[in-house]
Amino acid sequence: MIRRLLWTLMLVLLGLWLLPASDAYVRTTDQRTGRPLFWDPPAVTLTLSFQGLTCVMDPGECFTLAAEGAARDWNDAGAQFTFRTQHAPVDPCLKDGLNGVSFGLSLCGFSFPPGVLAVTTTSSFPTGEILEADVVFNLEPGNGFFWDVYEGPQQFVAGTPVNDFYRVAVHEFGHVLGLAHPDDYGQFVRALMNAKTSDIDRLQPDDVRGIHAIYGSRTPLPASRGNLENPGHQTFKSGIGLIWGWVCDANQVEVVIGQQRFRALYGSERPDTLGVCGDTNNGFVILFNWNRLGDGVHTARLLVDGRLLGSPAEFKVTTFGREFAEDLEGQYTLPNFPYLGDETLIGWDQNAQNFSILDTR
Ligand SMILES: [Zn+2]
Repeated sequence: MIRRLLWTLMLVLLGLWLLPASDAYVRTTDQRTGRPLFWDPPAVTLTLSFQGLTCVMDPGECFTLAAEGAARDWNDAGAQFTFRTQHAPVDPCLKDGLNGVSFGLSLCGFSFPPGVLAVTTTSSFPTGEILEADVVFNLEPGNGFFWDVYEGPQQFVAGTPVNDFYRVAVHEFGHVLGLAHPDDYGQFVRALMNAKTSDIDRLQPDDVRGIHAIYGSRTPLPASRGNLENPGHQTFKSGIGLIWGWVCDANQVEVVIGQQRFRALYGSERPDTLGVCGDTNNGFVILFNWNRLGDGVHTARLLVDGRLLGSPAEFKVTTFGREFAEDLEGQYTLPNFPYLGDETLIGWDQNAQNFSILDTR
């Protein structure tokens, strides 16, 4: 539930009574047992039902988009809790196993209490485990509530407040996941979960601490292991060749050379990585024309899902001043290679834009 209070009055109250922020979030409890509410498993599918309703200032499916954004804001708070959304006609007044989110012309057949913008109802077991939650936004005729979607300070039209659906949705979804109003418990903390609407239009640190307190924090993904093997550090490159290496776990593997990013084909067999990765489909490769980089020293770095991994490799490129040299040919004998008294015959290979070993004797 969220109540509106005259904003000028709010300013006075905040100015006089604002206390240092502390962990002021409050959890909703089961009314019979007083046990704090929670979802198990910590994932909730909201069924959104805003067909045919559009905003004044932002026409389109704005209420649906705002509700999805509000759910995402909680998902992005870094707790081990996930909202999912689906779209279907739903009656949030029914205990039907669906967590319905909709406007209501009444509060399930009753009048909304004065000044109430939206109501979240939850059914729970005595243990506090939530069975179902539903949200009804006040669209009762005669209440004079205007709904729209906007950021920033609260807006008024001819002295009448325009309610930002987005921030109210974030607030109500906070109730769905098990949070109550800090300001209903004599606290003055900056929080979107406060009962009264305000210029606060997004989640505050206290709100985030609240969801973390209920569900715990997502541990950051461990840094993936991997290695850019070619080009190696302080090596020389010419012609057309391959960039390669391995990464244990990734959605996307890229190699950054200078300011350019090159996406690798990832997932080829590398049996030699079984020990370190626990599986073998860890190879990556990029077909690459070194000539495109131009003459000089370049730096390559491995980028795994947007994160740099490992140390940069410096390598020197030598070209014939063009990307692809045609009409070149030549065969040369390298004396005393690979060993004293040996000879190795090399020849120009146009496809590889490089020399190949033709023979040894
Ligand atoms: Zn509320």
